[in-house]
Amino acid sequence: MPDRLRFAPSPTGYLHIGNARTALLNALFARRQAGAFVLRLDDTDRERSEDRFATAIQEDIAWLGIPPDEVVRQSERFDRYQAAVETLKAAGLLYPCYETPEELETRRKRRLARKLPPIYDRAGLFDDDATRRRYEEEGRRPHWRFLLPNYESDPREIRPTQVGWTDLCRGEQSVDLGSVSDPVLIRADGSFLYTLPSVVDDIELRISHVVRGDDHVTNTGVQIPIFKALGAEPPRFGHHNLLVRADGEALSKRSGALSLRSLREEGYEPEAVASLAVLTGTSTTITAVPNLRDLAETIDLGAINRAPARFEPGDLDNLNAAILQARSFDEVAERLAALGVGGGEAFWLAIRDNLVRLNDAADWWAIVNGDFEVDLDPADGELFDQAAGLLPAEPWDETTFSAWTKEVGKATGRKGKSLFQPLRLALTGRASGPELRRLMPLFGRRSTLDRLSAHRDRTR
Ligand code: GLU
Repeated sequence: MPDRLRFAPSPTGYLHIGNARTALLNALFARRQAGAFVLRLDDTDRERSEDRFATAIQEDIAWLGIPPDEVVRQSERFDRYQAAVETLKAAGLLYPCYETPEELETRRKRRLARKLPPIYDRAGLFDDDATRRRYEEEGRRPHWRFLLPNYESDPREIRPTQVGWTDLCRGEQSVDLGSVSDPVLIRADGSFLYTLPSVVDDIELRISHVVRGDDHVTNTGVQIPIFKALGAEPPRFGHHNLLVRADGEALSKRSGALSLRSLREEGYEPEAVASLAVLTGTSTTITAVPNLRDLAETIDLGAINRAPARFEPGDLDNLNAAILQARSFDEVAERLAALGVGGGEAFWLAIRDNLVRLNDAADWWAIVNGDFEVDLDPADGELFDQAAGLLPAEPWDETTFSAWTKEVGKATGRKGKSLFQPLRLALTGRASGPELRRLMPLFGRRSTLDRLSAHRDRTR
């Protein structure tokens, strides 16, 4: 059976780089195993889920380079969840509870005061029919809880019960069901919480590996018995550490901070985002991996640290620059054209080492076209005039700059920084940038002359 993995976001906001970590770990693991990658939209919460976010999620993971093989929406699968509910009810494993949140809170406090674990005492399980009818007559509606297998024969006697699994990321793991409340699977308004639909879908979609954030470890302890109660073998589980910003600011789907959308709009390369998202907080050094095939090869779930994966958003700039330096002209030609950038391959090869984001190419294109302002030092006026007089005839190539500056050096007695820095400023308006030997042929003689004589207008 081929491996099948899924990424299961709820469409309540835009995906951020932390969500990308989960999505990529699943998608790239599946890809490496020649398995399938399923996008499951967890949209059972009709109020908070929005279609525009569901669409955006699909666009964003396609941009990352991991379009799913299948897409399913939980909102279209309620009949399956209902069938599972019937199975659990028939097995006596799903029971109605009529407590209000306030009543539960009072009981929780009472248990804490008695130094008992503050878990639900299962009172609802023992309500008789008459009591339940009375609650209904009072207008109460039940929520439904799953009976955890944390007792021997009497469910009143909850005892320590370890449920264990070999975690793909964390090794041997266990959760003590004796210290967990019976989970609510259905709210009083009839809506499903995440716990049951997720299990039902993982079974029906034949998911082989569930890789998700380590905030789900306790959920796994609770979900394993639900898999079993529904007659299914649980999948393998892996819980990866969560990405957190080094400055402590939280990543949140709703705040939009570091959303894939905003990173794309800012001009970051998906491979840079993917490299940072996948490699942070692992034993592999964070480097820019220019294609996802190679990134997939680096994935070793067992080498993911347990501590939170702290990352510096600023590191994205270095990774992005490294990715751009490895890009061929063909790979970027279309996007450059969309930015209004011309100059063909020669321009791209001249500037690609000087970009942080692709959008910066537009600035260099303006410079190539002589579209910039600069204040030149009047003391360099003579240098510019002599340099203009020594400009060779065209055609120019990449040797032109060095032959020319050698002559200018001889004529002016300048060398090193005092020669090159003013020339660079006059020709590009900037103190640093792409190699002038590559830029000069793009400027051409006419435009280079203009740049060298511009100081006359400005210093007059
Ligand atoms: N919708 C859940 C979440 O976003 C999915 C968790 C899971 O992968 O099972 O946290």
